[in-house]
Amino acid sequence: MSTTRASSPPEAVGDAGPDPGLAMEARRLHRSLIEAVLATGSVPSVRELADRLGTTEDAIHSGQAELAIADYVALDDRGQVSCLYPFSTTPTSHVIVINGQPQYAMCSIDALGMPAMLGQALDIAAGCAVCDRPITFRVAPGTIVAATPSEAMVVARPDEAEPAFATCCPFTVFVCGQEHADQFMRRIAGTQGLPLTEALRHAEEIFGSLLTEVIPASRPRGRRWGQSRDA
Ligand SMILES: [Zn+2]
Repeated sequence: MSTTRASSPPEAVGDAGPDPGLAMEARRLHRSLIEAVLATGSVPSVRELADRLGTTEDAIHSGQAELAIADYVALDDRGQVSCLYPFSTTPTSHVIVINGQPQYAMCSIDALGMPAMLGQALDIAAGCAVCDRPITFRVAPGTIVAATPSEAMVVARPDEAEPAFATCCPFTVFVCGQEHADQFMRRIAGTQGLPLTEALRHAEEIFGSLLTEVIPASRPRGRRWGQSRDA
């Protein structure tokens, strides 16, 4: 997938004072995109969005560019939304069933954030990133209800300055247990194994409030979790 980014991440707008939140127009567009993906599994065309929001295609294009700068979406070469965190608009190995419909998450952390974001228990199906063994979860907001195999864990690369889809999502995966976590961490520098409960906490910090009225001016990023346990 070739994905480009409109510009580098915005500077923090002054350290003092509360985050005023994403501008209302951009917020409306962002919410429409998420609602459409939840309803249909795909991102509507610019034309459809313009009709739905009673605005022009130009306004949608610039709104999408604004959302990309704020890191809420990524755009492809043609300016189409290719990722709408936590959703991927193309199939990935992290499948979440929402209202009977399969949806795809950008990475394991994004998948774990969806139950809190939607306020409902969800089933997640994935595969071990090392051996491809099927891994399934039932996750409710705040709780891993069930995991098969029970030793399954997350291996994650924290997202920092760079857009997540490029630097972190491909390396933020599920593995079937500690042995394959260790193998993956040896293979990919900068990754870290996380127990499911810890991964869930981080996921909920990032995605738990994504559907609330006001969201931050730029997408909250995974912070640098834990120190490497013993490198
Ligand atoms: Zn495995």
